[in-house]
Amino acid sequence: MNLASWVERNGRRLRERPALAAGDEVRATWGQLAARVAGGAAGLRGLGLEPGDRVAIVMANAPEYLEAQLAAWHAGLVAVPVNARLHREEIAFILDSSTTGVVLTDDAHAEDVESLLDTVACLRRVVRVPGPEWDALRTSDPLPLTDRHRDDPAWLFYTSGTTGRPKGATLTHGNLLMASLSYFADIDPVAATDSVLHAAPLSHGSGLYGLPHLARGAVSVFPSGPTLGGEELLALLARWPGMSFFAAPIMIRRLASDPVLVAAGPGELAGLKTIIYGGAPMYLADLEDALATFGPRLAQIYGQGETPMTITGLSKADHADRDHPRWRERMQGVGFPRTDVEVRVVDEDDRPLPAGEAGEIVVRGSVVMAGYWEQPEATAETLRGGWLHTGDVGSFDDDGFLTLRDRSKDLIISGGMNIYPREVEEALLVHPHVEAAAVVGRPDPEWGESVVAFVVTDGTQVPIEDLDRTCLDRIARFKRPKDYVFLDALPTNNYGKVLKRELRERL
Ligand code: AMP
Repeated sequence: MNLASWVERNGRRLRERPALAAGDEVRATWGQLAARVAGGAAGLRGLGLEPGDRVAIVMANAPEYLEAQLAAWHAGLVAVPVNARLHREEIAFILDSSTTGVVLTDDAHAEDVESLLDTVACLRRVVRVPGPEWDALRTSDPLPLTDRHRDDPAWLFYTSGTTGRPKGATLTHGNLLMASLSYFADIDPVAATDSVLHAAPLSHGSGLYGLPHLARGAVSVFPSGPTLGGEELLALLARWPGMSFFAAPIMIRRLASDPVLVAAGPGELAGLKTIIYGGAPMYLADLEDALATFGPRLAQIYGQGETPMTITGLSKADHADRDHPRWRERMQGVGFPRTDVEVRVVDEDDRPLPAGEAGEIVVRGSVVMAGYWEQPEATAETLRGGWLHTGDVGSFDDDGFLTLRDRSKDLIISGGMNIYPREVEEALLVHPHVEAAAVVGRPDPEWGESVVAFVVTDGTQVPIEDLDRTCLDRIARFKRPKDYVFLDALPTNNYGKVLKRELRERL
């Protein structure tokens, strides 16, 4: 099963329907896309690449991004989608550790990537996409679809590196097929008349959630730039109804308070099908704002690159079920296990824990990665006993809903007590002038660690006693921050994750 077979099929069945669009303009019909993908695949093979070889993509979102990725798959190559906002040295690390010979990149990143030709031994060719070189490749004589087994690697997903050195989660064609099927099972069915908006990086969630849409022949739509605004979203909804998109919580927060969207009537939002959020904690106060702006069109997913965004989910129906006595608690959690996986909470010896007790979240199922690329030790450790060890700490409730406490590395132990930063952050965010908060542990000679809160306000000077009071009203005294640091913004990566390691380093 080669995932690129979807493109070939759609190229016949949906020949004249739009496949790729930039703004309101169609950039390729399915017939055109299928031809470009088969041509691009032949061109890539012409560069000396053989099935199983890696080809990296270092590009900002663009219709040609998908063309390039699908051409790589069609040729049986392994795509390495790199977060385009990484530093040149970080990109070098990924190319080197995945022994990638060819990089497809855009003008904005070409200088950085081309400079690596001298320093990264395995790198031998950099092709600019779009551009005359890519045009020449994609107009080659079409290559027949390369046969792939479901266990063959398709995507090396380099983890975003909020902790330690990035590792390449090896996602097979079978893993990505399963992730796409379980999207239909748990999130939404998709029709060829629908659309998917790529408002977040294709190298991460947006790329993964794009797949079920590709499978069904929906159109992939690209906004004009990286920062989607309310006005543009409304225009795109009118042009491409049946629209879904993936966004990190930080982006949902921004959109939910966009005055154009707040003022939008139901008719203007009618084209919006689903907003899928995840990848980082969504705080209840923000979620309530988002529901007020968008209506019950939100679905949450909890996952990680190692099990491509498929562990648990909170459906649109769960979000809409406001009369449920535990609605608030549920909205602070990450939902219940997805159809295609088993999920457990275990202790340090991997023994399952009962509901109510917190431990590491482990996952088993055919969506789980084959392993970390050429890292047998890290693979054996993470997949021990046949379960993916997520490094996240959580607990189930009696109804089988999972609440995420934190990354195990983020857990603060102060005076022998476990403190989950998320609880403290949720408490601080209730304060009307607090816009964002991140809580970390600081080494403390007396307590082991002490709680420090980094706080972003709306510009108002908030006295520390006020913040203390907000916390004391909601959480145990020992969890209250010992120190507050005020910042203009929290450091985040472009996947919307707060870089806690950076905050810890600042202390
Ligand atoms: P990545 O593989 O880079 O996408 O990072 C995955 C990590 O992001 C997970 O292990 C979680 O720690 C975090 N994460 C993903 N989804 C959620 C969610 N819905 N709520 C809170 N944290 C999440």
